[in-house]
Amino acid sequence: MLELSTPVQYVKGVGPRIAEILASKGIHTVNDLIHYLPFRYEDRLNPRGIAELRPGEMATVIAEVRNSGLFRTRRMPIFQLTVGQGRARLRCLWFHAAYLQDRFKPGQMIALHGKVEEDQRNRELQIVQPQYEILGESGNGDASESVEKRAAESLEVGRIIPIYESAGQGKLTSRWFRRAIRTALENLTPDLPEAIPAVVRSRMALISPRSALWNVHWPEPGESLQQLQESRTPAHIRLIFDELFFVELGLELKRRQQKAKTGIAFRLDDRVRAALKRILPFHPTTAQKKVLKEIAADMEKPYPMRRLLQGDVGSGKTIVSFEAAIIAIENGYQVALMAPTEILAQQHYLSARRILENAGYRIVLLTGSLEADRKRDIQRHIAQGSAQLVIGTHALLEEKVEFAKLGLVIVDEQHRFGVMQRLKLMKKSSDCEGEGSPASPNTSGSENRPHTGPGEPDVLVMTATPIPRTLALTLYGDLDLSVLDELPPGRTPIVTKCVPDGQSPKVWEFVRKQVAAGHQAYVVYPVISENEENEMKAAIKMYRELSSHVFADLKVGLLHGRLDADLKDQVLRMFQKGELQVLVATTVIEVGVDVANASVMVIEHAERFGLAQLHQLRGRIGRGAAKSCCILMTAGKITEEGQQRLDAMVTTNDGFKIAELDLELRGPGEFFGTRQAGMPDFRVANIIRDANLLEAAKREAAAVLAGPSSEVSPEEISRALVQMRARWQHTYGLVEVG
Ligand code: ADP
Ligand code: MG
Repeated sequence: MLELSTPVQYVKGVGPRIAEILASKGIHTVNDLIHYLPFRYEDRLNPRGIAELRPGEMATVIAEVRNSGLFRTRRMPIFQLTVGQGRARLRCLWFHAAYLQDRFKPGQMIALHGKVEEDQRNRELQIVQPQYEILGESGNGDASESVEKRAAESLEVGRIIPIYESAGQGKLTSRWFRRAIRTALENLTPDLPEAIPAVVRSRMALISPRSALWNVHWPEPGESLQQLQESRTPAHIRLIFDELFFVELGLELKRRQQKAKTGIAFRLDDRVRAALKRILPFHPTTAQKKVLKEIAADMEKPYPMRRLLQGDVGSGKTIVSFEAAIIAIENGYQVALMAPTEILAQQHYLSARRILENAGYRIVLLTGSLEADRKRDIQRHIAQGSAQLVIGTHALLEEKVEFAKLGLVIVDEQHRFGVMQRLKLMKKSSDCEGEGSPASPNTSGSENRPHTGPGEPDVLVMTATPIPRTLALTLYGDLDLSVLDELPPGRTPIVTKCVPDGQSPKVWEFVRKQVAAGHQAYVVYPVISENEENEMKAAIKMYRELSSHVFADLKVGLLHGRLDADLKDQVLRMFQKGELQVLVATTVIEVGVDVANASVMVIEHAERFGLAQLHQLRGRIGRGAAKSCCILMTAGKITEEGQQRLDAMVTTNDGFKIAELDLELRGPGEFFGTRQAGMPDFRVANIIRDANLLEAAKREAAAVLAGPSSEVSPEEISRALVQMRARWQHTYGLVEVG
């Protein structure tokens, strides 16, 4: 009997060597193996007759090998295979496929799958590069195998057949997986845990785990092929929902635990309101007002705020965060504002001083590159409470910074932090409880803490990459969500154009005209210096060229990540003051840099940037009233995906649309950087395809945790929670829930 947790090497036919290959696919246990789902299905119950095939259709054909051969054209070797059913014949072609030469023997039965085409010359039908599987291989003389083979035959034909991605450079074929998974299912323990409460199962019409696993691999004869391909059979739905439900349950639990903690109930009286009014440099947009109201309401609550503020670049998140800061400061608390880069931290520091210092608030900047003396000095101010708003990079977290009375943590540009970092950060801010007293040896836990002491600080997370709703629900299900869905008035939409770099003289001419009209321009490169990556124009080299030739008469500056902090600061200030007209830069300017007079951005090698990154970069312009223009220059050949990215940039300025597309193009894993970012790594679910199931899972998770009730028994809840914790531990490793 195989348990779900049995290491996969104990499945018959696996063993240590194959287990190693499987491990590289993330398959370690029996449970992993049986969740390795087919990526498509072939109907080998009703395969198509060759005579009835039509050009343009995808078809599965089972036929007999007649003959095959390799012929060489001037351009490449082509392998040709002719198969037949009675008198009907079908030709298959593979390009560059000398390796197929000895694979087929006349008389073999094979299954082929691919797109039927008509040969231009003789109007005969053919399939180019079909996927194939040899069904009846002539045996190699091993008698015991032939018995097994006959039994296995039914796994290859006469039904709907699951097709798996192969592994180990083709060592483990689809056919191999079919057998291994079949064996695993046949020997699987009969008691598969059912941890989803009955009422949820019935609302979602979920079938049992066992049927789901069998049917997803071995569909019943009557199953709809279309539903199978779209992962919409009851079996698929059960497995997908299962996966999403426990993630959402974990997030929902976190959220509830958060609300059960002691936070700080900030007061929002007339005095505080007056202070808020006083600092506002402009009329807030309706969206800003709405969002501030949501934040303020949270801050008044006696439990800690955990809120995510989403807003496209330029939507005006900064002022909202400053207002939140004022509420905390006016209540006598300190505020930490963290940015992912020094440049951005400096930028915030400058804005904060501009907006808040006149009102008498005390603001400090603490970054990693400060001199030791200065740093100590600032740390002292923080520890004594005389610094009210502390702005910094995550050095604020990593280094030993003691706050006298921390009330609010603001994390800007969250997408740069990654999910795991966010969790660490929140943990850190909850560690900051108490009046800065260094951790007391008394470890008996929070129950003993007097209730009169200050509670956990509020946390406001801000992200400039609009996250598609589905992703936000998954990744930030433990946070409340506010959205700034309106840009401040007086902006003219940015016009984006895409041109090949052969047209650069024209582009530079355009930049020159804009500068002559009093505007400023960014020119962005993907790399700092040439040797980083061959053939790519690099910021340093292009700076030399632009400043000494093309724009010899203009004031050109250079900004990249390797400059030391002072120099960066200086360059940025000069650009801000208009002392530089053209700023050659790398993506260091991607976040936060705010110069309203800059109305032109040229991005060279635009095909090299990710979509979200391009959108962030473009967000640096269009911040003033002047009409802004973003020029995407491309060099060399562009992939299809690259072209889609550029097209998206040209056709829309809407960050949410761009984020949706980005997610689609890159897939959820990449979207957030890496797996280390703590993105739930779904095996079965696909949060784009399964958005509606995700929402259902969230709803049902909330319903379950609201229990116990007549619908959900306490036992059911605790069973669900046990399962949830096991899965979180398994998937997220570090993250504790509950
Ligand atoms: P982001 O959301 O990208 O952080 P910022 O907070 O930097 O956006 O705001 C972008 C620009 O818009 C800034 O120059 C800011 O001063 C300005 N701004 C923000 N809100 C308003 C408003 N309500 N009216 C006019 N300008 C605003
Ligand atoms: Mg910002």
